[in-house]
Amino acid sequence: YFRALEKEGIHLNGPQIEAVRHGQGPLLTLAGAGCGKTTVLAARTGYLIAVRGVPASQILLVTFTSKAASEIKERIARIPSIKASAVRAVQARTFHSFGLALLRQSGHHEQILSDFTTRHTIMKILLRRLKAGETYQPETLLAALSSWKMSGEWPVDLPSNTEEEKKIKNILLAYEEWKQGRNQWDFDDILLHTSALLNDPQQLTKLQSRFTYMMVDEFQDTNSVQYDMVQKLSAGHRNLMVVGDDDQTIYSFNGARQESILDFDKVYPDATIIALPINYRSDSRILGLGTSLIAHNEFRRPKQLVAAGSVGLPPHYASPANVEEEAAFVADHLEEQVRLEKVTYSEIAILHRTAGSSRAMLEQLLLRGIPFVQYGNNTVFYDQTLIKTLMDHLRLSMNPRCKEAFQSTLGPLYIPREDGMSYLDEQEKRQPKKYPLIHLTRWDRLKPFQQDAVKERIRLIKKLTTLKPVYAIQEMRRLFYDKYLEAGDPLLHTQYKETMIDSLDELESAAAQFGTVEQFIAHADELTLRHQQMEAMRDGDAGDAVQLLTIHRAKGMEFRHVYWIGASEGILPHSTALKDQVTQEMKVTNPHKLESSLAKAALEEERRLAYVAVTRAKERLYITSPLQHHGKAAEPSRFLKEAFGILNTK
Ligand code: ATP
Ligand code: MG
Repeated sequence: YFRALEKEGIHLNGPQIEAVRHGQGPLLTLAGAGCGKTTVLAARTGYLIAVRGVPASQILLVTFTSKAASEIKERIARIPSIKASAVRAVQARTFHSFGLALLRQSGHHEQILSDFTTRHTIMKILLRRLKAGETYQPETLLAALSSWKMSGEWPVDLPSNTEEEKKIKNILLAYEEWKQGRNQWDFDDILLHTSALLNDPQQLTKLQSRFTYMMVDEFQDTNSVQYDMVQKLSAGHRNLMVVGDDDQTIYSFNGARQESILDFDKVYPDATIIALPINYRSDSRILGLGTSLIAHNEFRRPKQLVAAGSVGLPPHYASPANVEEEAAFVADHLEEQVRLEKVTYSEIAILHRTAGSSRAMLEQLLLRGIPFVQYGNNTVFYDQTLIKTLMDHLRLSMNPRCKEAFQSTLGPLYIPREDGMSYLDEQEKRQPKKYPLIHLTRWDRLKPFQQDAVKERIRLIKKLTTLKPVYAIQEMRRLFYDKYLEAGDPLLHTQYKETMIDSLDELESAAAQFGTVEQFIAHADELTLRHQQMEAMRDGDAGDAVQLLTIHRAKGMEFRHVYWIGASEGILPHSTALKDQVTQEMKVTNPHKLESSLAKAALEEERRLAYVAVTRAKERLYITSPLQHHGKAAEPSRFLKEAFGILNTK
């Protein structure tokens, strides 16, 4: 088997072979980035099938994303002597897709609420109904509910000791009932119900004999419910292999617990432990930066990492004045590298911390016509729901007749889109000259608070015509969002707030570049148009394109050239990790940890993100620290200073 692999150019090292040949019982492979953990999982699957004669359908392989699941199947397909039918039979799945398949088989037909906007809207409606819209923010509540459920608890068991807790529980249960009434599940429900299904001894025994080998990739990011699923499914045969890297736990906000991997050998005292010390991915200078960076984390297992690769160029560092210049710098460099034929577009990734922090980069790519794909996000910055609402208000101020822009104002007025539009159509037949918003003022179906809101909206639109774009954005932000964003939320979960604030700050930065609202809108429309053209030309196939993605999404992946943008204080480490707010957030998600260590924990997670970013690169790593962010001065990221003193050598 191993000789056959070598003929295909796969030369596994000693510890890798040992892991692949591991027969029965628990196995832990805890190893650094790029040391071949995923490679070993694929090779062991092939080995079990080809050498041990295990039926492919009895192997359950859990990956973190569906993309990773199909990639690992491709890796297995490349192994000689494995038939295509066997590759198809291997159960390579995410926790969610595995759970959903099980639930469907046992007669559950719930509709899955996969997108965030829908859940957000439901919550918003409920908040209004329960008259709590002023106090709570939908995303905060959804996040709190999620972290509760992903710690393995059912919503009915939410605490209700204080008045505050009672109120929150009331809202969250209303959300659960809403879904139940409509036969709907969100993603967390899939996992909780799967876990419950596994409590049925009959079902469990059936599954345990159906899947006799279980392997889990990226084990460091499993949450309590997922961990529980793993334990139950493998409890009979105990043929459980997990691989992961405690230095790459970056999903704590989703309930991931580093302890799941760090304590594996306590839970399974007979586990074989195999370390993989050789990194095959990155050039030694890149690996060196990653290693010295992560060494500053306290809560980790130290690892020895040796680079197998050559010694190439040191990471390229620059500190452009702002994000616009940063984007131009990146675009210049990657265009040059592609022109010199050093690399193709698809071998390049641009990694950023948050959704908002790629706005300037995305614009550069679009304006220069550089092909790119954005995973998990197919919209231009200006078309994101939050941003589009504000842009449409600006559009209305330029052209009060614009029906499309008018549609965007309905949501914030608590008017269902279809109702609002059909009312407008009717009225326009009678009085075609009147502006859409003016029509609304006559609608007797609106409640008093809605009528007031319509009037306020008309005043706002009028005022916007007199303002420069950046002030117009600030005005709307103040009116629409500040109350939410500043509310002393008792269940402070900053993940969504963070995204929201980032996007709004970013929109202000973008607006500040333009003198008139007209110019600003023309710019946004131009970008949307270019994006549509690019998507149309591409017709589904990404082709040769640069990958623009968040560090979270880049986990497990590798690229010849990596640009880590936004390596500045406030971006990475993110400002929310630097505030005490985080302490509160983590109290909710992680009540057992000592409070004093919480701020540090948040910072350590940011450092792990930086580590993940750096270790995605194979040959070339470019790091940029914009010296200004959202209009304020920003220092280069402390992680760079710690790791290399790289900033002095610029
Ligand atoms: P991560 O922690 O980022 O998920 P990983 O440990 O899963 O990384 P892999 O993706 O499996 O690492 O491997 C990293 C790179 O090293 C891949 O390009 C893989 O093909 C290569 N590789 C792994 N093992 C070997 C080997 N023995 N010889 C040569 N290349 C190898
Ligand atoms: Mg991997």
